[in-house]
Amino acid sequence: MGVRTGAQYIEGLKSRKPEVWLYGRKVTNVFEEPVFQQPILEIAKLYDMQHDPEYRDQITHICEETGERVNNAFLVPKSYEDLMKRRAVFEAFAKATFGLMGRTPDFLNVVVTSMYHNAWFFEKYNKNWADNIRNYYKYLRDNDLFLTHAIINPQNDRSKSSHEQKDMFTHLGAVKETPDGLVVRGAKMLATLAPITDEVIIYSFPGFKPGDERYALAFAIPIDTPGLRIICREPMQDGTRSLFDHPLASRFEEMDALLVFDDVVVPWDRVFLYNNVEAANLLYPMTGAGQQPAHQSGVRGLIKLQFATEVAMKLADSIGVDVYLNVQNDLGELAQSLESIRALLRVAELEYTITEHGEAMPAYIPLETIRGLLPKMYPRAIEVMQIIGAGGLLMSPTGADFENEELRDSIDNYYVGREGVSSFDRVSLFKLAWDLCGEAFGQRLLQYERYYTGDPIRKRGIFYNNFKRMHAPDLVEEALKVSMLKKEMAAK
Ligand SMILES: Cc1cc2nc3c(=O)[nH]c(=O)nc-3n(C[C@H](O)[C@H](O)[C@H](O)COP(=O)(O)OP(=O)(O)OC[C@H]3O[C@@H](n4cnc5c(N)ncnc54)[C@H](O)[C@@H]3O)c2cc1C
Repeated sequence: MGVRTGAQYIEGLKSRKPEVWLYGRKVTNVFEEPVFQQPILEIAKLYDMQHDPEYRDQITHICEETGERVNNAFLVPKSYEDLMKRRAVFEAFAKATFGLMGRTPDFLNVVVTSMYHNAWFFEKYNKNWADNIRNYYKYLRDNDLFLTHAIINPQNDRSKSSHEQKDMFTHLGAVKETPDGLVVRGAKMLATLAPITDEVIIYSFPGFKPGDERYALAFAIPIDTPGLRIICREPMQDGTRSLFDHPLASRFEEMDALLVFDDVVVPWDRVFLYNNVEAANLLYPMTGAGQQPAHQSGVRGLIKLQFATEVAMKLADSIGVDVYLNVQNDLGELAQSLESIRALLRVAELEYTITEHGEAMPAYIPLETIRGLLPKMYPRAIEVMQIIGAGGLLMSPTGADFENEELRDSIDNYYVGREGVSSFDRVSLFKLAWDLCGEAFGQRLLQYERYYTGDPIRKRGIFYNNFKRMHAPDLVEEALKVSMLKKEMAAK
């Protein structure tokens, strides 16, 4: 098929009937549901970009195997140039969504591409698993599909492993083998955008213990597979709030959901790993499933931080407070944070390595440093926005007030900013800022930056241990030589 258009993506959604639960009711058609409609259109725009002459050659390429045009997220990077081709799609998609949608189609397509290229890992355990992941990659690529993923167990009792939970199938596990496939039962979280995707892939962060064999699983299935229930959180917007009053929340709501598998049959050709604790623990670090998408997350995070920084700067400028040193100090800090992330990303790309399997891998240390810094830098940008916007963030009238002639004079007079900033411009800007720093929508964006790829504290612990292993303390050794010399001299 080659790259899809937005209309083809929407047609695909309309042709399926996933079991989606929202506000206690079953959604019969996701496209007709106001909560999902605008986010669907935002994703559709990304598909359309693949056909837009402005972007087409930057974000897609001709697949050597099929001769069809495919998205660069499906490119196995073998060189710096390939990494740059991938960066182009990450950047184009992130800019189109201001970095506010984390799970755009490129994210998981990169994960599966990396698993495909590292099929040797699956082959070590089971040849069928390797064949399955290879075929699945080709299926995704050739049909240009959109995936969600759920790789965390539900948050029940974190002090116990999967097989120690109260119920054997609280965490998603295998029930039995049948000729048609593996029957699975239990729950997995936190599948962002699940209702409006085509497929779901399941795998896990490392952490399985002996006894967890039935939970050691990886597979992918269509999102409307019978028995798969998608339970959505409360929406941050209900699809009826106006674009003027909520310019971001009304567009970029990324629904999150718990997935419940009620004896779902996973066809054998969709099983990538099963009943093997060692393989399940190694899948994430050994197949590039963490490091390759960290490139996408780094680019997206940069754009999101840039956006938040620009909003804070414009807020300050609009009310004339950026003449004050305290405000300049805060904004200067945000600009330096932004430039640090930009620099780290460039280092990650320039210091790429080629793995023994021929894959170009952006550098681990700068990527993980981005991962560690953004959960501090992004909340700080939001805090600065709140400090600068102050009470003004809470006094904006609504779009309806602007339309009422009786209020016209008051609105034109009392909501203006510094000279040259009209009431309309100032209020529009403050509403944009409030979506980011006040609304529930903005709080989710903060929580996303902290947790989107695991607990940042444990991630930093893993990083430290790796850093220690990779980083010889040469300078200290050099300095200690002097002490050794002194010791030797004293001994003479
Ligand atoms: C907005 C958002 C979107 C997300 N999207 C997705 C998605 O699309 N797909 C997906 O699979 N996941 C997604 N995630 C889930 C994400 O992977 C998890 O939130 C993350 O891995 C942390 O797990 P948890 O939320 O269960 O927290 P927990 O692991 O339960 O941690 C809770 C607290 O307890 C502490 N803690 C827990 N266990 C330990 C331990 N063993 N040692 C030390 N401290 C511990 C943590 O430090 C933390 O403070 C998303 C999360 C968010 C917030």
